[in-house]
Amino acid sequence: MLKYRKGLNDMPPYDGTDKFYNIKVNANECNMAMPPIVAERLMARLQSVPINRYPGEEYDNLVDQIARNFKLQPENVFLGNGSSELIEKIFYCFGGSKAKKIVFPDPSFSMYHIYAQAAQADAVTVPLETDFTLDIDKFVTAINDNNAALAVLCNPNNPTGGALPVSDIQYILDNIKTTTAFLLDEAYVEFYGRSAVSLLKDYPNLIICRTFSKAYGLAGARVGYMLAARPVVAMIGKSFMPYHMNSLSLATADICYQMRQEFVPHIQIMISERKRMAEQIKQLPGFAVFPSETNFLLVHVNDQPELVELFEKNDVGVRFFSPDNKRLKDYIRISMGTREENDTWFGLMKAFSEGRG
Ligand SMILES: *Cc1c(COP(=O)(O)O)cnc(C)c1O
Repeated sequence: MLKYRKGLNDMPPYDGTDKFYNIKVNANECNMAMPPIVAERLMARLQSVPINRYPGEEYDNLVDQIARNFKLQPENVFLGNGSSELIEKIFYCFGGSKAKKIVFPDPSFSMYHIYAQAAQADAVTVPLETDFTLDIDKFVTAINDNNAALAVLCNPNNPTGGALPVSDIQYILDNIKTTTAFLLDEAYVEFYGRSAVSLLKDYPNLIICRTFSKAYGLAGARVGYMLAARPVVAMIGKSFMPYHMNSLSLATADICYQMRQEFVPHIQIMISERKRMAEQIKQLPGFAVFPSETNFLLVHVNDQPELVELFEKNDVGVRFFSPDNKRLKDYIRISMGTREENDTWFGLMKAFSEGRG
């Protein structure tokens, strides 16, 4: 027997599928190619990255750009290998024993459970209502009753797609203790358009995480960023290795961020596809779709396993939830692909609905 650390054996493996599909709509990635003008600039830039040096300038350039965009200081910004790394480290920094409570709604991003476990903290979940909305008073009560070290909110929420207005975020911050760190995961905020960044100046316990993986289509580069008050960034920064980001990914994100206007039409297409597909699904008997402010839809399906099987047979990968997931076992989550891809999976869905009718 190898002497692994305590608790590792009980950690579940990540259940995300890395399988290749002809139509891959299971991971909320962007299915459109990078705008050609961005790709061209990026290729030129990558040629001049000093790969023999540890990343310094590439890191600082991106931090400066992000800080400037939000009218913050560079000391308010920290970069991570995807926002996943940042979120994992934030859980680590506020964990360390079962006495440390980390409170978040459920269903939400499935990795929160795993990060809490890895941080040896105690995860306390607040169930969403039957319509998958969050009762913010219940959330506030759970945070305060547990004297939470960390509270986490994904807004808009994955996998349900719903979003709270910034006034609700402010209400939560106004009603929890200033000794509770509040992590707001804004992975999908570009599709929603209403960020809580403006609250940072008034709430020194607020931490916002963002990513280049979804709206910017850089899931493979692994770049995310955290925005928070200077002392919070300094403390959480201590948990990272020196030179934790690689220059190639930093240069990639830097070019995309400089050229972020070029991504606006992409984001608009994903939003309009989401609206179009939600309308179409609504017309199908046996299906229900939840309001979404993201690039994906959560769909209730009678006979979910049969539909997933039909998708698999046709080389379409959607996110589905296992039979032991009580809240989500009758649902699938579909990210918006290209118009053509969306028409294809919808065709299968329609045939399924008619065949079953
Ligand atoms: C995709 C996602 C992330 C992390 O994405 P990265 O690729 O690690 O930046 C974080 N939170 C939520 C809710 C997500 O859906």
